[in-house]
Amino acid sequence: MNLVLFGPPGAGKGTQSKLLTEKRSLPQLSTGDMLRAAIEAGTPLGLACKALMAKGELVSDETVISIIAERYDQPDCKNGAVFDGFPRTVPQAEALDKMLAERGRKIDLVLELKVDDAALLARVESRIKAGGVLRSDDTPDTLRHRLQVYYLNTAPLIGFYKAQGKLKTLDGMAAIPEVTRQIDAALDGVAAKA
Ligand code: AMP
Repeated sequence: MNLVLFGPPGAGKGTQSKLLTEKRSLPQLSTGDMLRAAIEAGTPLGLACKALMAKGELVSDETVISIIAERYDQPDCKNGAVFDGFPRTVPQAEALDKMLAERGRKIDLVLELKVDDAALLARVESRIKAGGVLRSDDTPDTLRHRLQVYYLNTAPLIGFYKAQGKLKTLDGMAAIPEVTRQIDAALDGVAAKA
């Protein structure tokens, strides 16, 4: 099964992807994690993306499409994967469909975590007050910018996947176990249809 977890930054995609990985043995393919690992390792790719990521800008479509294709061809993706933070633009979604079609696969379901922007900003502010470990892009100003980037570039994917009949919208503001329950119910629906 190939799933896309979709939603604005801070919606809980990473948390839910990790839970899905544990329960369904589907690897989490997070382009954000892959790019952060490249920065950490000091690779040319990491160096090229570092400043854009710190500002909350998207890196190029070609960059993420090629790292996803390489990662998807690893043996642990033989039963599918959970795409987390990818695709983020219509060209990325088109490239993903093409990549999967070339491998005789497809996206089965896109789970949109719907959240309230003001609540997301309040969460970042409370993480800062609590003195938690923050990512360099985890500040109120950067989050505001990342939300703008999301609405401009990524939100059009809602229509893209709705037109394909693959979109399922969930309440991302619910408590983590409740979101997990909603995801499980959606996945059971797909399994029942298959
Ligand atoms: P994330 O961890 O998914 O929030 O991603 C962190 C940052 O990595 C984003 O703000 C972008 O700068 C970059 N990034 C991650 N995934 C993508 C993607 N699919 N397309 C473009 N940029 C991405």
